[in-house]
Amino acid sequence: MAIATINPATGETVREFEALTEAQLEEKLQRSWDTFRTYRDTTFSQRADWLRRAADIFDEDNERLAQLATLEMGKTLVAARAEITKCAYGCRWYADHAAEALADVEWPHPSNAPEHARILTRYQPLGPVLAVMPWNFPYWQLLRFAAPALMTGNTGLLKHASNVPQVALAIEDVFTRAGFPAGAFQTLLVSSSQIEGIIDDDRVRAVTLTGSEPAGREVGARAGQNVKTSVLELGGSDPFIVMPSADLDATADAAVTSRTLNNGQSCINAKRFIIHEQIADEFQRLLVEKMDALVVGDPMDENTELGPMSGPQGLEELDQQVQDSVAKGATLLTGGKPLGGPGNYYPATVLADIPKDAPAYYEELFGPVALVFRARDVDDAIAIANDSSFGLGGSAWTEDEDEKERFANEVESGMVYINKITESTPEVPFGGAKNSGYGRELASFGPQSFVNAKTIWIQ
Ligand code: NDP
Repeated sequence: MAIATINPATGETVREFEALTEAQLEEKLQRSWDTFRTYRDTTFSQRADWLRRAADIFDEDNERLAQLATLEMGKTLVAARAEITKCAYGCRWYADHAAEALADVEWPHPSNAPEHARILTRYQPLGPVLAVMPWNFPYWQLLRFAAPALMTGNTGLLKHASNVPQVALAIEDVFTRAGFPAGAFQTLLVSSSQIEGIIDDDRVRAVTLTGSEPAGREVGARAGQNVKTSVLELGGSDPFIVMPSADLDATADAAVTSRTLNNGQSCINAKRFIIHEQIADEFQRLLVEKMDALVVGDPMDENTELGPMSGPQGLEELDQQVQDSVAKGATLLTGGKPLGGPGNYYPATVLADIPKDAPAYYEELFGPVALVFRARDVDDAIAIANDSSFGLGGSAWTEDEDEKERFANEVESGMVYINKITESTPEVPFGGAKNSGYGRELASFGPQSFVNAKTIWIQ
């Protein structure tokens, strides 16, 4: 993919960028390594000061940074502003909490240790960490890696998605202006074909990727060959289970919000709506009505609720998945056809009666398409929810205490929310099971992801 800003609302190429030459890349890798050797010895308090300053810059520059995201990947400006605010919050949260997550852990004595012995785990930074990131939350996805990693004493190297180069450069600029040493965080404008060589480089000590399953498999395999730590946050096809005791109207509102958040392009969007058959007709009616009511339009317009998809390729793939599913027998309840004209607009769409051999049954649909399934009872709902190779998040909506426990225990995913849309916030661990990836981000897992947890025995 060319590294370029292409406005998803118009299709216009706004600005193109050259990938780094091998010599330029080499210089940046060496700078990252050189910086690490002194950066790792800075104090938590110093790093926290820089991160708090970065938070202030996110706040001061919110509007400019938000407009850049909307221009490059098409999320609504309202959503982009909220994303920048969350980045500022995330920086402050890690400035306040990382040291606690990385404090020494003292262990009980084995019987052969003298009374005065100290046995502990000390978390030490690894070095330069490569972050391969997607465009969908172009600031937040990166921040949720970078804020804890910088607090740990690692240096960061960002390979961002090719369609958000200006955001990628803006993030480096925020950290530089915040006072972090030059080289503590650098953006690499490189193509995905240059990633293997970067992972192979001895100076790069670990890699994290947020993105699709195929990209995750390649990057994870390469890290494995190099015996390097990796964290993978991949795709999902999250279930949203509704039982008869739920408040149907409020739950249908939550369903629409969760499915269409970020123009339907979030890994934790609810994608499969698994509805108890007693209430399925009514819920489906509400879902279609509320999806149809969304205001589709220019993402810069404050009233827009559903903007364009980020690129024409994603739109074509989504449309093909919908057409193929209908050809296999799925029922199209609304939407289902690109809106045409300039820009990558796809309407809010609902599919039901989806057979097992339709793409919509097993694949991730990364756009505003809701998939409705009917369940006979709790067992059936759990079986449908788990009939997926993905296992990122999921939610269940019920007032029944036994059902809450069953969904919490038996849905096979990294995260289950009861009566709440799945979300990503610094206080709460985030990550997937099955083909949705491994490792955890956020909370205390974030700072502990890229460390040497060193055992120290002193006697
Ligand atoms: P991609 O996997 O195509 O791209 C993500 C990043 O990986 C980009 O920087 C991309 O670079 C790079 N990349 C792509 N292919 C390779 C490769 N073979 N080797 C190395 N790097 C590669 O994902 P999308 O941009 O399409 O993002 C959407 C996907 O991300 C969805 O599946 C979504 O569910 C998932 N996702 C997961 C999240 C999570 O937290 N679990 C959060 C957000 C999204 P380039 O742009 O240059 O191709």
